[in-house]
Amino acid sequence: MPAITGDEYIKRIDTLQSNIWYDGERITGKLSEHRAFAGVMKSQAALYDLQHQKENMTFTCEKSGTGIGVSYLIPRSVEDVKKRREMIQEWATHNGGFMGRSPDYMNTVLTSFAASLDLLEGEKKTFPKKLRDFYEYARENDLSFTHTFISPQSNRSKLAFLDDEVTNARIVEKRDDGLVIRGAKLLATQGGITDEVIVYSNPGTAEEDQSYLFSIPTDTKGLTFVCRRSFVESDTPLSSRFDEMDTVVLFEDVVVPWERVFIYENVRAVTSLYKEGKFIPFTVHQIVSRQVIKAEFVLGVAQSMVDMINIGEYDHVQGKIAEIMRGVESLKALLYKGEGGGTLDEGGVYIPDPIPLYVAVSEFQAFYPRCMEIVQQLGASGMITLPSERDFSSDVGENLTFYLKGYEKNGKEKVALFRLAWDMAMSGFGTRQMHYERFFFGDPVKLAQNLYQMCPTERAKNRVEQFLQERS
Ligand SMILES: Cc1cc2nc3c(=O)[nH]c(=O)nc-3n(C[C@H](O)[C@H](O)[C@H](O)COP(=O)(O)OP(=O)(O)OC[C@H]3O[C@@H](n4cnc5c(N)ncnc54)[C@H](O)[C@@H]3O)c2cc1C
Repeated sequence: MPAITGDEYIKRIDTLQSNIWYDGERITGKLSEHRAFAGVMKSQAALYDLQHQKENMTFTCEKSGTGIGVSYLIPRSVEDVKKRREMIQEWATHNGGFMGRSPDYMNTVLTSFAASLDLLEGEKKTFPKKLRDFYEYARENDLSFTHTFISPQSNRSKLAFLDDEVTNARIVEKRDDGLVIRGAKLLATQGGITDEVIVYSNPGTAEEDQSYLFSIPTDTKGLTFVCRRSFVESDTPLSSRFDEMDTVVLFEDVVVPWERVFIYENVRAVTSLYKEGKFIPFTVHQIVSRQVIKAEFVLGVAQSMVDMINIGEYDHVQGKIAEIMRGVESLKALLYKGEGGGTLDEGGVYIPDPIPLYVAVSEFQAFYPRCMEIVQQLGASGMITLPSERDFSSDVGENLTFYLKGYEKNGKEKVALFRLAWDMAMSGFGTRQMHYERFFFGDPVKLAQNLYQMCPTERAKNRVEQFLQERS
């Protein structure tokens, strides 16, 4: 089957009838009709439709001859990486970059695993061929994925391994029909609205029974998704369409069939696949491609607010907009440097330079919340004076249209723009977006540690050495 359409996506997820809990009740009926999921599933479906409506969203698979979504493409050249970026940005433009977990994210992760199988050759309790076959199956069927990597937050001390009450999902039995998994994992964004869930150990896991990589269908017996509160509100331009649900995932003796187990009880293999394989370079390239689009959207909202209330003459306002511009241009520069500075590995896979891309992701953790602060500062009371659409259609509507007017725009137009700004920077959805950009790829402290380890400093040190020698 080639790249799917939106209708096919919706039908597949509705048919699953997975075990999803929302506000104390199991969801029954069609998920695509539930208030918390309808908007985001429709947006996701539109992305699948774009694969058929726009140029260069698919490539022809050498093996099957079918048209496959480009996010499943293993890049063999810099042109391939650019092709990937263009496809990712086409999707991101559709949602302003607010869907961090549009399917290209996890398709990229799975593609990175498939391009790193050499790391598993000869490693005990790993199944590189099965992983390769699964990637091809996912690619041919255009599967969608959520993922859950992180252990519950019950004890983050360095001595947590002494804790007897393990909450993290772990292997409790090995049977003829598969691994038995018991425990919990977080935080599966889009949990329940994808075909499959990829379950992987935390980076840094030290316990064998908690080291694994597998994928199972979302409707697997014993698997439960527990949702947070929905941020969907009526009248909201973003949350009503792009609120990707986040879920805690519970494993009640879930049996993972052996054909879906790719690694188990091998700490070294899970760590090297994460750290030494293509996971980081491919994934950070996908992330920064999306973040550029999101940053440009934020710039568009901020400048529109400036124009709407005519504050562009003030120095500090120009300074704030310039701050966003600097961020946008820096992100783009880092993205292109990462793309162009890549290398071909022995297997002919083109790997973007992860360092500028990793720097971009790390910078975005602080840049994005700062942008939201700027939007709040520019908007001031306009972020609060937001009567509803119904108010505008009521008897007070005429007064509101006049008294809430902006510069050369009527009150309805001004409120529509400022409601967007509020949804982006102050609503539950907006606050979650800030939290997402800060944490989804790891907490800022760990990202800084990783960068410290990744970034070579030899050249800089040698220059200093040379400088000192020349002076002596
Ligand atoms: C909106 C959102 C969506 C997400 N979606 C997903 C998803 O789809 N799939 C998924 O797998 N994960 C997801 N995550 C989880 C994300 O990967 C984690 O939030 C991130 O890795 C940080 O881990 P944590 O939340 O457990 O924080 P913790 O590790 O518990 O950190 C809490 C605090 O303690 C500090 N701390 C903890 N340990 C140490 C240490 N060893 N040294 C120094 N300081 C430490 C941290 O710096 C931080 O300040 C999501 C997170 C968010 C917020």
